[in-house]
Amino acid sequence: MNVSRSSVVRSPRDGRVLAEIQHSTPSEVEGALWDLRSAQTSWEALGVRARSHALAAFRDRLAVRRDDLADLVAAETGKPLVEAHVEVAFVIDMLGTYSRKSPKWFRERRVRPTLMSRHKSLSIWHSPYPVVGVITPWNFPLGLALLDAVPALAAGASVLIKPAEQTPLAVREAVRIWDEAVPSHPVLKALTGGPEVGAAVCEGVDYVQFTGSTRTGRMVAEAAARSLKPYGLELGGKDPMIVLADADLERAARAAVFGAMCNAGQMCTSVERVYVDTRVLEEFVHHVEAELRALRPLEADGSGDIGPLVSTEQARIVEEQIADAAQQGGDVRRFGSQIEAPSYVRPTLILRAHHAMRCMREETFGPLLPVVVFSSEDEAVKLANDSSYGLSASVWSRDKRRAKQVASRVHAGAVNVNDVFANIGATMLPQSGWNDSGVGARLGGAAALYKYCRAQAITVGRVDLPVEPHWFPYSKVRLRRVRWGLRVIQRRWRPSL
Ligand code: ADP
Repeated sequence: MNVSRSSVVRSPRDGRVLAEIQHSTPSEVEGALWDLRSAQTSWEALGVRARSHALAAFRDRLAVRRDDLADLVAAETGKPLVEAHVEVAFVIDMLGTYSRKSPKWFRERRVRPTLMSRHKSLSIWHSPYPVVGVITPWNFPLGLALLDAVPALAAGASVLIKPAEQTPLAVREAVRIWDEAVPSHPVLKALTGGPEVGAAVCEGVDYVQFTGSTRTGRMVAEAAARSLKPYGLELGGKDPMIVLADADLERAARAAVFGAMCNAGQMCTSVERVYVDTRVLEEFVHHVEAELRALRPLEADGSGDIGPLVSTEQARIVEEQIADAAQQGGDVRRFGSQIEAPSYVRPTLILRAHHAMRCMREETFGPLLPVVVFSSEDEAVKLANDSSYGLSASVWSRDKRRAKQVASRVHAGAVNVNDVFANIGATMLPQSGWNDSGVGARLGGAAALYKYCRAQAITVGRVDLPVEPHWFPYSKVRLRRVRWGLRVIQRRWRPSL
């Protein structure tokens, strides 16, 4: 059935209608896939150098339109203008690096042969998946779409983005900007709609890159597995912060509040659990409370620190976790006053938190800061690792060697020493979630391009023999030669002890 549905995009700040969007019908999804497949051939044939010039043109045009894009991101997510500009800046910075470096990264790779293949010259070519699907959530609508789309484009794939139904506007605008900047290569498209459009995109593309909840990620993985399709998943987190006794407590407290409340806590890498050495708890909490008291709710002009959550449903989930913590003996302290926006949740500190509470086990995605004490490094690591997630973490100490040593024991795809989610801005590093936090990695320099390619092994004879030593016909002479060959190999690889 091709019944078109539509929905409205509202500002979480005041419920104002920003746009009405049509949800793509199955035949529109099919049409987009067909167009992308057709356009991809010449995009790949262009070669990596010309593609990198196209990406640079895209970056320049995005930079010209940065204020409009930041306004759109701020309007559809309800986040403060500063955060929307940071999101746009990340994308432009990353585009700059990836467009400049991809010709150097994306080359035929020569490989040294082993003895058995010494008479061959070996290399690896990389052939992009023709259409990569990028399915994204609402918290960083522009950033999360383009951080995956750009390396795929650089590798020569075409990209179909399915933004979250609540926040499709900035991505739609970015696709328009692509069409203006690179008019002869329509290899970037976006389709709007909900889960049914997401599922149709998964079905039709050759590689699925999904960012979102662990629950939906599982469904995407199951769908991809049915058609033996590769996929990457960037899922939820329950990021721990370990504050050792010798940490700079003022900086750690600032970071805890920023890490938990940035984007109103709606980040997969938000600080969601704080573990503090019991000896410094009082001083740490004193600084945290001062920071929390200083937070200002978002104003109508986009100024202020902390905005409403994306939906009233999300606000309800967070309030339920707060109520659960209070019921289970938590010391719940709320800051600031309630503002008009229906999905606004006041910044909340929970002392005497423990692992039976929902806010310590389930992803919160809201402005909540639960604090637990520990009395030894081992206990801190054990508590930090007591989670099904493993996205990122932070360790705080004035002794950086000690902090790195503790970091090496934390089960997470990234650990930041004396900072929170600093790895997100470092787009040359891989971002990978362990356990329930994901499969594969995004970004990470050259690896980001190779991820969207199939490797093709190429062998070329260095000497053209009339027959290879192991071909037919099998004979005693051939057997002798093969056994002699084996002796040579054995001598080469004699035991090293
Ligand atoms: P949230 O982060 O709001 O919980 P989800 O993880 O469910 O959201 O959704 C993230 C993205 O995945 C959105 O773009 C959504 O439309 C899309 N989506 C939801 N369900 C599916 C599905 N079954 N298959 C593919 N995409 C889906």
